[in-house]
Amino acid sequence: MDEAVRAAVGQGVVREGNPVVGLLDVRGIRATADALRAAFPREGTLHTFAVKAAPLVPVLRLLADEGIGCEVASPGELALARTAGVPPDRTVLDSPAKTVAELREALALGIAVNADSREELARLDRLFPASPAASPLGIRVNPQVGSGTIGALSTATETSKFGVALRDEGAREWLVRAFVERPWLTRLHAHVGSQGCPPALLADGVRAVYELAEDINRAAGEQRVRTMDIGGGLPVNFASDAVTPTFAEYARLLTADAPGLFDGRYGLVTEFGRSLLAKNGAVLARVEYTKTAGGRRIAVTHAGAQVATRTVFAPESWPLRVRAYDAQGRPKTGAPVPQTVAGPCCFAGDLVAVDRPLPPLEPGDHVALLDTGAYYFSNHFAYNSLPRPGVYGYASAEGHTRFATVRDPQSLGELVAESGAAHLAGLSALR
Ligand SMILES: *Cc1c(COP(=O)(O)O)cnc(C)c1O
Repeated sequence: MDEAVRAAVGQGVVREGNPVVGLLDVRGIRATADALRAAFPREGTLHTFAVKAAPLVPVLRLLADEGIGCEVASPGELALARTAGVPPDRTVLDSPAKTVAELREALALGIAVNADSREELARLDRLFPASPAASPLGIRVNPQVGSGTIGALSTATETSKFGVALRDEGAREWLVRAFVERPWLTRLHAHVGSQGCPPALLADGVRAVYELAEDINRAAGEQRVRTMDIGGGLPVNFASDAVTPTFAEYARLLTADAPGLFDGRYGLVTEFGRSLLAKNGAVLARVEYTKTAGGRRIAVTHAGAQVATRTVFAPESWPLRVRAYDAQGRPKTGAPVPQTVAGPCCFAGDLVAVDRPLPPLEPGDHVALLDTGAYYFSNHFAYNSLPRPGVYGYASAEGHTRFATVRDPQSLGELVAESGAAHLAGLSALR
């Protein structure tokens, strides 16, 4: 990281005219992909990447090179996956709001689809009255195992909007019948929450859905459910450089909880997002000014709510580590003093860290927001018409760091066009 920051400053990747950038560690991403594959070594496993965590074509391409497909949840995400060259048989479509057109497209392409609700299954019945498409089809189940520490990211609560709620009255019987009556339904899907959900909670959910699969197969008199899609959701440690929990630990937990899942009868699909990318990325921003107010030291930087949206609006749930670098991109060494790291947005709450002990920052220095490789580059917030930052991948070897553009920074021309420039006089013409 330190080497990459030094090189990003030295090579002008981050500079006065490009004061905030996203950085992605290409070797780190490859190593994380290796760890994922090693944790689930059995044949018949398809790893997909939840595109929403980093909707960037070169990232999807890099992961595809590593044998990892895409989990998509919108026509836009599907278009990105297809542009990256991810084949249909390595793509999974999950979304709670798939339109008829989206379903038709996915099934025409042969992409796996997990129906999110009874209504969606009825829609599939109507769309394909005779026989189903080539797509593997399944149902998403909410095992209702409870909430993690972040409510907005807990998908398996009693009243979650996702999937068919397994423990609701009559739901289990309905699900068994749905599969028994439809030989083309061959998958069960669960994605139990996300950051803030401990692995044991995720494993509880997977076990509940595995037990449902066994019930269905017994009732069908054959192996009707052939593939278990266990979703993603492995949390990430934002407090230090340690990778914990690991994919291997999670795989061991799943094996202990639901050994039958790994005895060779079931194909497996995973959909990890954050755990593949978060620790392999950082936001790097220039410090523009420093000031004090009411005794508080404040560094005004170019990274705020536009790029660290969740951290700014929900700081308790999304605290980030901040590292201080000087104007040359070298780690700052002064004795830490509490400083508030602010962003460029025009509202008072635009702070990425409050009273954080850091070496004293000065104008021209840099701050890095660590562990921001997942979700931070996708959750851009267009406040103050601040442009989407550029994202650059890097690889350091033998003292040299090379960069490759992942996404150009949004230009002012693009920003103006996106803001309705083509319709300049539209309102004035209405009387
Ligand atoms: C968001 C999402 C994922 C990925 O979640 P992470 O917490 O980033 O691993 C996987 N599957 C589905 C259905 C999702 O909505």
